[in-house]
Amino acid sequence: MILAANLPGILYPLARTACLFSLLFLGACGEQSVLVELSGETMGTRWHVSVATSADKPSEQLTALIQDTLDQVDAGMSTYRPDSDLGRFNRAAPGQWVTISPQTLDVTGIALRVAEQTGNAFNPAVATLVDLWGFGPGELGASVPDEAQIEAALSTTRLDQLELDSTVPALRKLSPMQLDYSAIAKGYGTDQVAVQLERAGLHDFLVEVGGEVRTAGEHPRGRPWRVGIERPQRVQGRAIAALSLADEAVATSGDYRNYREVDGRRYSHTIDPATGYPVSHRLASVTVLAPTAVLADAYATAINVMGPVAGLAFAEKMALPVYLLVKQQEGFEVLYSSAFEPYLQ
Ligand code: AMP
Ligand code: MG
Repeated sequence: MILAANLPGILYPLARTACLFSLLFLGACGEQSVLVELSGETMGTRWHVSVATSADKPSEQLTALIQDTLDQVDAGMSTYRPDSDLGRFNRAAPGQWVTISPQTLDVTGIALRVAEQTGNAFNPAVATLVDLWGFGPGELGASVPDEAQIEAALSTTRLDQLELDSTVPALRKLSPMQLDYSAIAKGYGTDQVAVQLERAGLHDFLVEVGGEVRTAGEHPRGRPWRVGIERPQRVQGRAIAALSLADEAVATSGDYRNYREVDGRRYSHTIDPATGYPVSHRLASVTVLAPTAVLADAYATAINVMGPVAGLAFAEKMALPVYLLVKQQEGFEVLYSSAFEPYLQ
């Protein structure tokens, strides 16, 4: 069942997980547990980690571990780095195999699966279109592309033209194509940080990379981690809803921070691979919960492409917890899937 409610004009303070300095708490087994807040920059955005750890663990080491983990994802999958796996693939001629890292192989597999599940609403081969509309590493045109350019770019999005050799591992295209993992790499990086923290013996943390979140265990105060769903607006807004999370991931997709305006018209950075045009529906933000951040990230983008009606139908079919904010004359309409209902308490 889909529920809809008109949101009143009341906003709630964004549920930051903790203050910016370390606090002492008593852990479950009586040891002193410190909430450490770490942050840095990656993938053109910022990361934040809140982690419960013993008082003597040096936070510099943890910061370095997290930064290295994220830098590795960026080095493999950034379309802004000519030497990344995707940078080399995007420049390669059709037919030429390009070696990739096991991580890029991993993300490619997930991206192709989500593309199939979503009828290519999520399409990692959208890079040429993304560039054409001024959201990629290419030069920004002063005007919007014409029909012929869009037609030509659309012909580069056929995923049956992508071949994967998982033993090398390597990728090649059979006809011109460029890949863009911007809609999934931040989620993947978030998961990779979670893996590294678990390996370091840490089991209570919240990882956030550019708005994609993964949580494990609980806050040292013995309560779930709290994450706010932001009110869509250009500058960082306040929370419109708050989620309590244990071992989960949550990602949001929207165009309220990344869009272009040409001749007074607004163009979203989310491209509909079926038409080659930026999406133009009234969906302001899509929030998806999933067991991993990489899936939450990919599904959030896919549902953003589908729009509110098809997006909610997809969420119901997949039993995905999804929360949508749809622009109204004033404020937003809230829509959510049945699987999201337990998170509203
Ligand atoms: P996100 O914020 O996770 O929704 O990712 C948005 C970014 O993904 C855009 O800036 C593009 O680089 C890329 N993108 C745009 N449209 C699509 C699409 N249909 N499928 C996959 N990636 C896309
Ligand atoms: Mg995404």
